[in-house]
Amino acid sequence: MREPIIAANWKMYKTVGEAVNFVRGFTGLVAGVTGVEMALCPPFTALAAVAEQLAGTNIALGAQNMYWADEGAFTGEIAPGMLKEIGCRYVILGHSERRQYFGETDETVNKKVHAALKYGLKPIVCVGERLEERESGTTESVVRSQVEGSLAGLTVEQAAGLVVAYEPVWAIGTGRTASAEDAQQVNAFIRGLLRDMFGDAAAEAVRIQYGGSVKPGNTARLMAQPDIDGALVGGAGLQADSFAEIVKNSL
Ligand code: PGA
Repeated sequence: MREPIIAANWKMYKTVGEAVNFVRGFTGLVAGVTGVEMALCPPFTALAAVAEQLAGTNIALGAQNMYWADEGAFTGEIAPGMLKEIGCRYVILGHSERRQYFGETDETVNKKVHAALKYGLKPIVCVGERLEERESGTTESVVRSQVEGSLAGLTVEQAAGLVVAYEPVWAIGTGRTASAEDAQQVNAFIRGLLRDMFGDAAAEAVRIQYGGSVKPGNTARLMAQPDIDGALVGGAGLQADSFAEIVKNSL
């Protein structure tokens, strides 16, 4: 069985001090929790401090983005080896905010996925339709081209270690969660795409999260779905107590 993964995406929130305070509170609240993988994805500036706080815990560290080159003259960018060195296990790639505001495409996400894997980072690859796409009935074709484009050229072994996050854009930060049934339907569709691309065993191994207004009160229903293997949590992942509740409600 797939171990669920609950990850907090802090986006552009939390100074180093705020991040350290969160971790001090959170580690106490989830001490002894097993059966679910937990990850915190702070902004770049807080990665080192959070890594230090997480040492010796079962909570993983993740980044929210990276560039695909090994190193070079790319002012303002962060390389995969830098994230690996600082202790990241995960890196979120292709979040809808990156696609919407920073020009990320399936092609650039694909380059980043390959680069992350080269450095032993596990990508959390985000896909999801916008509101007008859902309303016009094109959710599946949009998600299909995102999955096929973002994951092109991976080996079966690489694919099996992926985390995919289905995040309908209209549900992110809006308080409007997809129903558990709607989320399950798209997650199952994604698993079917992975089966076509990489075969049964890899498709069964990939953890497919749901993201978009996940809160303590809706976690259990979402996690009860057979193809929802965790959550990518924005707003409700900023407070230690609500994020700990989400973790516990996912069990
Ligand atoms: P939200 O964000 O939980 O605040 O909707 C989710 C995300 O963007 O990953």
